[in-house]
Amino acid sequence: MKIALLSRNRRLYSSRRLIEAAQERGHEVVVIDVLRAYMNIASHKPSIHYKGEPLESFEAVIPRIGASVTSYGCAVLRQFEMMGVVSLNESVAITRSRDKLRSLQLLSRKGIGLPLTGYANKPDDIKDMIKMVGGAPLVIKLLQGTQGIGVVLAETQKAAESVIEGFMGVKADILVQEFIKEAGGSDIRCFVIDGKVVAAMCRTAAPGEFRSNLHRGGKSSLIKITPEERSTAVRAAKIMGLNVAGVDLLRSNHGPVVMEVNSSPGLEGIEGATNKDIAGMVISNLEKLTPGKTGTRGKG
Ligand code: ADP
Repeated sequence: MKIALLSRNRRLYSSRRLIEAAQERGHEVVVIDVLRAYMNIASHKPSIHYKGEPLESFEAVIPRIGASVTSYGCAVLRQFEMMGVVSLNESVAITRSRDKLRSLQLLSRKGIGLPLTGYANKPDDIKDMIKMVGGAPLVIKLLQGTQGIGVVLAETQKAAESVIEGFMGVKADILVQEFIKEAGGSDIRCFVIDGKVVAAMCRTAAPGEFRSNLHRGGKSSLIKITPEERSTAVRAAKIMGLNVAGVDLLRSNHGPVVMEVNSSPGLEGIEGATNKDIAGMVISNLEKLTPGKTGTRGKG
């Protein structure tokens, strides 16, 4: 197959591994920086140009679109889809999963366990909003944040009020969430491919920190997940319409709760923790997809 890898940096671990795994299987991979691609959207024959040449005869596309370029990146991906090129994850599913609020609403609609979560733009009564999600301690999250940046733990009512006021003062969109203390600073990353959890790891926060992101000094290790966690992860990926997803769970007193469903899960942490060839599994799944037939059902 001729595969387009949408990535802004071919030297990143995940990009390198996907290229390697595809080449080992006899595929040709072309790395495309989405921001440098330009499109003809008005014609009957949709096309994409790159460095002065049309991108043609691709059979599959692997989107690894960074959070900061979601909108343009998904437009380029959509153009590939319009040209009949099959995508590992479809643009509509990526857009859906990148919107934290929309994702949580879709997941809650289907009964997936979630931390008690509130969202507000300009509440007149911050105290009532805090009460609505069970009071302090609370986690307050900037909607645009990634890699744990903009995720704050407010341990007291007063701290929660002033952090919320502060964020609102700078017109930031925030989520206010029940703090899952019993997770003990650990979360679980489930790597889902085509309706199966193919690998799982536990990430534990550095001492004195509650965020387990590897970028925040968290450490990863192997974990055996329960059947309930497995089915929660699989269902969450399916609801988003993602064929490949990284589902982040917390172990709460009320069962597994989903924090986030990631459409471009990194490979470094999970391959390191599990010693599995996840890149190989991703490519062999890509080989099985047929254009127009992925997990996306076209909902919300
Ligand atoms: P990001 O998308 O920026 O990584 P997350 O929402 O995943 O932000 O939060 C970062 C980390 O903070 C998580 O990996 C988890 O360890 C911790 N965390 C987030 N939300 C909660 C919560 N409600 N209760 C306990 N810990 C949380």
